[in-house]
Amino acid sequence: MSLSFAIVGSGPSGMYAADALLKKFPDCKIDVFDKIPMPFGLIRYGVAPDHFKTKNTARQFLRTLEFSQVRYLGNIEVGRDISVSELEENYDAVIFAIGAYNDRKLGIPGENLPGVYGACAFVGWYNAHPDFRDINPMLDGSNTAVVGIGNVALDICRVLTKTRSEMKGSDIASPALDIIQNMPIEAVHMFGRRGPLEAGFTPKELGEVRDLERCSAIVSADQLPLNVEEKFEGREKGIKEKNLSILRELANQNITKKPVKMHFQFYASPIEILGANRVEGIRLERTKVSNGKAISTGEIFDVPCCSVITAIGYQTKPPEGLPLDGVTISNTRGWVRDNLYVVGWAKRGSSGTIPTNGPDSRNVIDLLTDNLNKKGFNTLKPGGDATDKLLSIRNVRVVSVADAERIKDAEIINAAKDRPWEKFTSIKEMLAVLD
Ligand SMILES: Cc1cc2nc3c(=O)[nH]c(=O)nc-3n(C[C@H](O)[C@H](O)[C@H](O)COP(=O)(O)OP(=O)(O)OC[C@H]3O[C@@H](n4cnc5c(N)ncnc54)[C@H](O)[C@@H]3O)c2cc1C
Repeated sequence: MSLSFAIVGSGPSGMYAADALLKKFPDCKIDVFDKIPMPFGLIRYGVAPDHFKTKNTARQFLRTLEFSQVRYLGNIEVGRDISVSELEENYDAVIFAIGAYNDRKLGIPGENLPGVYGACAFVGWYNAHPDFRDINPMLDGSNTAVVGIGNVALDICRVLTKTRSEMKGSDIASPALDIIQNMPIEAVHMFGRRGPLEAGFTPKELGEVRDLERCSAIVSADQLPLNVEEKFEGREKGIKEKNLSILRELANQNITKKPVKMHFQFYASPIEILGANRVEGIRLERTKVSNGKAISTGEIFDVPCCSVITAIGYQTKPPEGLPLDGVTISNTRGWVRDNLYVVGWAKRGSSGTIPTNGPDSRNVIDLLTDNLNKKGFNTLKPGGDATDKLLSIRNVRVVSVADAERIKDAEIINAAKDRPWEKFTSIKEMLAVLD
């Protein structure tokens, strides 16, 4: 009998893990589970809709799902349709690749007011994620605030300020595009507790805000350091230098006739979200940075806004039976317990791009292989057969990779002329294509 593996989550980390397992054990059987019928996690539901080329990286992962040793079991939520312990009993090893689908909280008063959204929910909403289709964000005012100074914050600011014609060719959900385009937007304020050198932007993403049709980026030259400190080295230093040079360019272009402004506000720490029954503004404290840390100055200021979107990191949301350690599943270099492992954002937190997950997953599969070598390869585990029995008794509709391709074809047919596809926003609509 061949070794059998369960991978929970079909995002990049799960797919890189499947590739690595196939290289180590060409005769193995791999079941890849995902709670959503459609595979590939944040490639579909996180990557900005106007970064369409990046979304195409899903093609390489589709090839992995099509290998004869691999089965895709979409629409199966581990923890709901099948338990963690059932997987542990039935497979030689189980790899959790469930990403991080909870927004981290600011922990300040007013955070629960209507009009405050975490980036996971907000980005999920404009990317048509079924869990977030109904958040109906309050985008009814001229000003909105985004808390965070990384690429996710930049994505949100860009999507909010681009024109409809700039969103041509994107796969943004149509209902979200309509709401965003109807917003009487004049300004988006991006706030970061620390300075430009601590910002998590990458130069490519930052550079994109130079050329927006109706929006100018506003950067205060006073907030820019003269140079990149010595403590940054090598590649990181290069990135900081490029960012600084783009920010300088933006600071020099501040006088502009474009109607919408994207304000980069560094050294500004949110201390309260203001409003009686909904968001009316945000209160911030001016900071200064010492040894990379934000320090209070006591100077307080308010900015009126209709909504606040926080982009300060995600935390994982494991099913019952898995230990949580702050924002990740507790693990030692990816090993959780017995035959259970974790990879990707659920293992190391919400940082890193799609390719970053490659070496990370391969290292965990190396460790798993060493552990299996120590035990010997005699398997008595029933693998996918046991899963099929359980899911059939529970009457769960499993979505195969061929089914997912049929849903994708229907999304392509539903697309407007200038769009690649129109994603279904509910699981019910996806399954209706198959029945
Ligand atoms: C807003 C945003 C934009 C980004 N843009 C880029 C970009 O332009 N370029 C780039 O390279 N990187 C980008 N990234 C980073 C990239 O998306 C991540 O590095 C990568 O997706 C992490 O992979 P993962 O497999 O750990 O998690 P995910 O991609 O989140 O995959 C996790 C999968 O697990 C499934 N799952 C969760 N719980 C369960 C369960 N209980 N049972 C079954 N399935 C479950 C989920 O449905 C999901 O499919 C972006 C990230 C975000 C948040």
